[in-house]
Amino acid sequence: MASLFSKDLDKLRGIGKNYKEIFLKLGIETVGDLLYFFPRTYQDLSNVFSIKDAPTDVLCLVRAKVCSDVIELKTSSGRIMQKVKVCDKSSILNLSFFGSSFISKVLKNNAEFLFFGKIKNIFGNLVMVSPEYFKPTVPLYLRPVYNQTAGITSKRIEAFMKQSLDLLPKTIGEPIPITIRETFNLTSLGFAIKNIHFPQKTANITSSRRYFAFEQMLTFQLKITKFLLKNKKNNFVIENDFTSKFFKILPFNPTNAQKRCIDESLNDMKIKNFSMRRLLQGDVGSGKTVVALALCYNTAKNGFQSAIMVPTEILAKQHFVFFRKILSKENISVEMLTRSTAAKAKKEILDRLKNCEIDILVGTHAMLSDKVIFKKLGIVITDEQHRFGVLQREKLLDKGENPHMLIMSATPIPRTLALVFYGDLSISRLDELPAGRQKVDTFLIRSKKRKDAFNFVKNLIKNGHQGYIVCPLIEEDDTDLISVNEYFKILKNEAFSEYNIALLHGKMRESQKNDVMNKFYLGGIDVLISTTVVEVGVDVPNAVFIVVENSERFGLSTLHQLRGRVGRADVKSYCILVSDTQNETSLKRLKTLKNIFDGFKLADEDLKSRGPGEFLGTRQHGFSGLGAINFCDGMKILKQAQSAAREILKEDPVLEKPHHRYLKFKVENLEKSGVLP
Ligand code: ADP
Ligand code: MG
Repeated sequence: MASLFSKDLDKLRGIGKNYKEIFLKLGIETVGDLLYFFPRTYQDLSNVFSIKDAPTDVLCLVRAKVCSDVIELKTSSGRIMQKVKVCDKSSILNLSFFGSSFISKVLKNNAEFLFFGKIKNIFGNLVMVSPEYFKPTVPLYLRPVYNQTAGITSKRIEAFMKQSLDLLPKTIGEPIPITIRETFNLTSLGFAIKNIHFPQKTANITSSRRYFAFEQMLTFQLKITKFLLKNKKNNFVIENDFTSKFFKILPFNPTNAQKRCIDESLNDMKIKNFSMRRLLQGDVGSGKTVVALALCYNTAKNGFQSAIMVPTEILAKQHFVFFRKILSKENISVEMLTRSTAAKAKKEILDRLKNCEIDILVGTHAMLSDKVIFKKLGIVITDEQHRFGVLQREKLLDKGENPHMLIMSATPIPRTLALVFYGDLSISRLDELPAGRQKVDTFLIRSKKRKDAFNFVKNLIKNGHQGYIVCPLIEEDDTDLISVNEYFKILKNEAFSEYNIALLHGKMRESQKNDVMNKFYLGGIDVLISTTVVEVGVDVPNAVFIVVENSERFGLSTLHQLRGRVGRADVKSYCILVSDTQNETSLKRLKTLKNIFDGFKLADEDLKSRGPGEFLGTRQHGFSGLGAINFCDGMKILKQAQSAAREILKEDPVLEKPHHRYLKFKVENLEKSGVLP
């Protein structure tokens, strides 16, 4: 099976340059990748109903004979429509098609066909609109439905999938050892890969999905557990604690939570021959930067260097300015390194860094370059760490001799999940906001009230403020949702034509994104129309409103993160959730945001109502298409995978045994792309 991951898609007939590019966009490069692109759902083309017994309003298959001529007429809106009656012994069904003149040549009177579509009962008449039709001899099956994107249909993907399955070797090397499969009652990969695409019966879908959920969680667990098993010896110890001195130079009083988290970290850093591996979880605005600075301060005072890596230039700049301000009267040197650091300045920074003349280096991925050499690296800190892959983090760690490591995350993962995700990583929690923060007023409105909401925010803009409008999708294909591009155009031409608005989404180039964010930061943009990219760490104190369209689409945690983009100064801020959902559970979920402002509590709620998938980040971890794994099942599988991972690593710590070859391969693959929550 592993060999299919080096088999280029070219091996498939009819793939061409066009489809290759489309697949590439979906992250699919090889036949193996394609086989791991799972159907979103299935259509039952295996059960044939009589017209009378067929259910209404759901897709179903009926067998019937054409019992009228096809007649063509024009609808009131001018579309050409074809109508024909089909019958079986039980009843008559009226079919209608649009713009399909050729149908009269196919659906000949008295010929038998299978029709697949939704039957509607309209005043006693059974009607099926635009059904698919097949010869009565076609094989019946459960048809996979793939997420189609621009340029490729589900059916086309299905055809490529059939070819890919044919390339599978007769006996597939099983990645999960048989003992583990037996313990947890898992099917084989061979069975699962065939049945997830073309299930022989409905029950096989569940067992196949369960297999892949387990396989993916196991890979994930192997990755983090392996990482934690690395040598932890370290020769940098905090001999003297300068924290009380640090608190004197802070312009505000630290919160008790900040004091506690600094303490917990320093206690680790005071132990000889031990490298701290700690996760600092703190809600947006809880003041994680101060904790980071306190550790850098202590490190510098004890003669070692610190590296703090952030995902964007804007964040680097923010930290850099803040660090310099606080440390202005101290004899501690802080520098910043990003891709846009000028060549001359860069050379100087690199030289000084090598000579230990720089105590704290703040920067972006640019810090990972081999040219960046520290003399005495004591601690490595990554901020907004879900944006970094494990490999990047390890690369930074390798710049010292097992330096201490603090990873900071604004995702308040529930403790139960954090334990599973991070294994033995110690956890500190900043569960308290600095005094004097105002709650962000949160409203839930229907879209028909959008205009009022816009007028409300326009008033805020007139008072010199800024804000965000967030839209969930950027792909054009999702039927009932409007893409952020489209939405931007509408807002620009209509509601906000007299304002400065700009677009920000994840598919823009990094430099474009930076430009837009910079302009927004400097006040040159009134409203930023964006996808959830603003979720990450942007601190623009003047932004006081955020409107979230189709808010039912987001998890509580994401919504909470979005809300955290505003209310970052003493000015009253507003979060307006727009949703037309009629779904009780969704409404209830959205309403909890009005009353709960604690990210950890919301995360617990999220876990209960949406299951762990929300935290696993569906796409990155390849959980797409596994269907909604519900909370209980998801947690159970996670825990089982965790114990399986420990068992495997106990026997084979670096996965070098031949029968772990495929698992090793999967883990390495995940490491390449892998991003922790
Ligand atoms: P986050 O945890 O989201 O990274 P930051 O570290 O950016 O939060 O802090 C948010 C804001 O709160 C910053 O402007 C910071 O200076 C301020 N801040 C942090 N700690 C305190 C405190 N104890 N009292 C008052 N303001 C604080
Ligand atoms: Mg931060």
